[in-house]
Amino acid sequence: MSLNRKTKTVITLLFAALAIAMATAAFAADGGALTAAGRIAARKQQLRDLLGLAASLGVPARLSYSGYDLAGLKRQNPSSVLSELFRKQQGAAGMAAQFETTLRHVGFFARDLSPDAAIGRAVCAGAEMEPCRPAPLGAQSWAAPERAFSPTAIETFFACPMRFYLEKLLGIRLQSGDDPFVVIAANDLGQLAHAQMAAQARCPLGRADFIAAAEKRFDDFLKSRPPLHPDAAVRERQNFVQMMKNAFDGDPGNEVLSAEQSRTVRHPSGILLQGTPDRVERTPRGDYLVVDYKTGRQITHRQDDIDSCLQAVLYAFLLEQSGVPVSRCEYRYLRSGKTVTCAYDGAVRNQLDARLQQFRTALDSAAFPCAEKCAGYCGFESICGRNKLAEEAAEE
Ligand code: SF4
Repeated sequence: MSLNRKTKTVITLLFAALAIAMATAAFAADGGALTAAGRIAARKQQLRDLLGLAASLGVPARLSYSGYDLAGLKRQNPSSVLSELFRKQQGAAGMAAQFETTLRHVGFFARDLSPDAAIGRAVCAGAEMEPCRPAPLGAQSWAAPERAFSPTAIETFFACPMRFYLEKLLGIRLQSGDDPFVVIAANDLGQLAHAQMAAQARCPLGRADFIAAAEKRFDDFLKSRPPLHPDAAVRERQNFVQMMKNAFDGDPGNEVLSAEQSRTVRHPSGILLQGTPDRVERTPRGDYLVVDYKTGRQITHRQDDIDSCLQAVLYAFLLEQSGVPVSRCEYRYLRSGKTVTCAYDGAVRNQLDARLQQFRTALDSAAFPCAEKCAGYCGFESICGRNKLAEEAAEE
């Protein structure tokens, strides 16, 4: 079934603010109603009683109903209980006209349901928050001495300060949803590949054993998430195993000094840095490398470019401060077997210092504007204010 044949609707009927769950467990005592029809009738009556009680107490109630229509027969498939309750409240005359418009429709697992997203929207709209009132933008430094920043967070800042603010400072998590037809999500695939490479660093295997371990790793994942389409699972498994074969064949065979080891160091700008490089290696010539594995299809890094190499360069700084004389960084793309190298020398250190000072200044002044150009899909576009800015610009 393709995605657009699924009607994914959660209908929220605002009787007001008391949440009423229709969970079976809440109505376990079904007395003498032994038949299935009897039990259903009893539960409907219990719901009506509960709503009646709420109404008599003057307590507003909110009722949520999942309209996920697997059969795809109708755009939505509201429950008869919902219709009946609505008719009771509105009267038969208002039913047809108002039923559809009164319900609030949101996507299945939509981020509209997330309290984090709601709070984020409120913050971006300048709402007053009680009882924990956040300092308004511009009123405090976010560079508290004990707050550590990861290379990924700093990379996010330079891609879009507003996204960094929402995601890394406010901690708003995006709910991307879970498509049951997807065999393995990109981040899960990345975690499997990283775990395989970390295990290889700890306990190196020969090629055949390495491939067998990759197959087992993927099969174990499928046990935790049984695929709806076995054919798609076979394809994904082949892709994963091929990627790991590429990783094995493309490995230069350097001495592995550490893998997935966390480091924490304070930069002279005052920024506390914390990161976990995928690997640190020493070549036969005695060069020290920071290695970062990538599982994406596209090559997004450019050789010796501080902006695209910022994450690896930050790892290099962390290691250097821990006593490892890093001479370069490598992004190893596991799917294609390609490697992008980034130098780490005096000039790069100076560029890094300037970037971190810029980051510090932004934290101190709490200045987190939207990026001039969004790099790819973000997910915060409905709350970051970008749309509002665009509307204002269009009006002028
Ligand atoms: S949508 Fe664009 S401007 Fe808004 S937070 Fe995301 S990257 Fe930044």
